[in-house]
Amino acid sequence: MEKKSFTITLDGPAASGKSTLGERLAQVLNFIYLDTGVMYRAVTLAAIKKNVDVNDEMMVTKVAEEMDLDIHPATVADGRSNDIILDGEDVTWEIRLPDVEGNVSQVSAYKGVRVAMTEMQREFGSRGKIVMVGRDIGTVVLPDAEIKLYLDASVEERAKRRYLELINRGKVATYDSVLDDLKRRDNIDSSRAIAPLRPADDAVMIDSDHMNAEEVFDFIYKFVEEHQKID
Ligand code: C5P
Repeated sequence: MEKKSFTITLDGPAASGKSTLGERLAQVLNFIYLDTGVMYRAVTLAAIKKNVDVNDEMMVTKVAEEMDLDIHPATVADGRSNDIILDGEDVTWEIRLPDVEGNVSQVSAYKGVRVAMTEMQREFGSRGKIVMVGRDIGTVVLPDAEIKLYLDASVEERAKRRYLELINRGKVATYDSVLDDLKRRDNIDSSRAIAPLRPADDAVMIDSDHMNAEEVFDFIYKFVEEHQKID
């Protein structure tokens, strides 16, 4: 009999290609897709919109606990994977702006923020077959997941890919500024006290430095197919 729930976690540092890969995997497998990074971005944006100082942990936590966040399949064909609705407003693209990008790692290091987001993520995880992408999904959010994946690449390679992506989208950027920003975010994400970025002990490690997106996808898809047959 086919299982009702099956969970795949996909963790890794910023710009490792997790979101693109996770979304494609979910599409092909017909699973729900959740990129948890958007939740931390939404908290950061909600704080900024309410003129809350992002250094004020108590106030930011209150914002996270009280915000009304709705994530559902995309209703607009503009390249988005989901609609992100914050307090009734579509913020799908606003959460990608530099102001959010520059503050999100700090906001996501707050304990109360993580508790609130983890609870929402587990609720999502209980809805059925899911691919959940983030930093601490295999270690903290869904430690009993059937498959845990950790996608890594050197910071230089990730900066190169992110820089080209920005330039192709017509944005102004330099390789050095992208590299500096990734190093800063890696450092905060992996050194924070609560739920730091790290692979789960039982995660499959994929280093994509010498693999293109297609090769990474093929490798993971084959692995998941084999695993689903066994489980
Ligand atoms: O993946 P993305 O770059 O959109 O995530 C934005 C930020 O949210 C990350 O830099 C990280 O600080 C935080 N994050 C997190 N835990 C997750 C997902 C994202 O702390 N599960």
